[in-house]
Amino acid sequence: MAHVAFIGLGRMGHGMAGRYLDAGFEVAVWNRSRAKADDLVARGARWAAAPADAALGADAVITMVADDEASRAVWLGNDGAAAGMKAGTLAIECSTVSHAHALEMARELRSRGLVYIDCPVTGLPEAAASGKLTLLVGAEAADLEKARPYLAPLCTTIRHFGAVGTGTVFKLINNLMGAVQIASLAEGVAIAEQAGLDMNLVAEALSTGAVASPQVIRHSRRMVARDFSGASFTAALRHKDAAYAVRLAEELLPGVPVSRAALVAYEEAKASAPDDDEGKMIEIVSRPKQS
Ligand code: NAP
Repeated sequence: MAHVAFIGLGRMGHGMAGRYLDAGFEVAVWNRSRAKADDLVARGARWAAAPADAALGADAVITMVADDEASRAVWLGNDGAAAGMKAGTLAIECSTVSHAHALEMARELRSRGLVYIDCPVTGLPEAAASGKLTLLVGAEAADLEKARPYLAPLCTTIRHFGAVGTGTVFKLINNLMGAVQIASLAEGVAIAEQAGLDMNLVAEALSTGAVASPQVIRHSRRMVARDFSGASFTAALRHKDAAYAVRLAEELLPGVPVSRAALVAYEEAKASAPDDDEGKMIEIVSRPKQS
């Protein structure tokens, strides 16, 4: 039976780890705070004392943690997963990390004889728990073939962008554009409110008209209703992704004023309520400003 170690049991990782149990894998789990593992352990997962312990005997180690700092800690920190992995083991980074970090982890883990692929995902926590994610992969073709059996329980679609790092480049531009769209939607909704428009009609028109991207469809009614229940993507995570993307732009295409403006908007949202839903941007935008 194939063994996986799953590290990081937050909103996304918890559901993803459960997919391996459903698919009949032997699963070892570790999370910084233990309580999030309890129901997975009740379903048959092995609780590991540390990432290195989770990785013992694993054919693939999958990480789904917040950011670069967390990723470095779980791969290379004290008792990090790398310390427990045998040569040739797959190291699959599903967290959204910076491009520089993905390349650095690839170098570090390859130097230990491991096979690193970057594999950030799109899809909300419901998609994570039901195996309906889209995976954005950067990997050598042969490494991706080796990884496919371990990716299959997570997803309906695998998009292979090229060598290690390319999956992360795509994920970062995708989420940067999401930041721009949500910040712009918040401003449009706030202007319409100030003008006294029928906001139910505005929400319906936005979510069926020419600017109706999935982000606009998802957030327009929630913003109009100020309904942010069930936060699935937080202001802090959106800010992190936009910051990593703008850092990448600084190397490749300095300038990007629209992207920078969205980053500034999410700096404010993160400072105000980091763990709240990213759609609360409408509250930031609507606050009275000193003129
Ligand atoms: P989350 O619920 O906030 O979970 C974050 C995870 O990272 C938790 O397991 C947390 O441990 C762990 N963590 C944070 N700092 C750590 C550290 N220093 N050392 C070890 N572990 C640490 O976030 P999420 O929504 O699951 O997102 C996880 C990743 O998926 C992020 O990179 C995010 O950008 C990406 N993503 C999210 C979504 C979404 O819709 N939510 C969609 C696509 C991609 P604790 O439980 O102990 O705090």
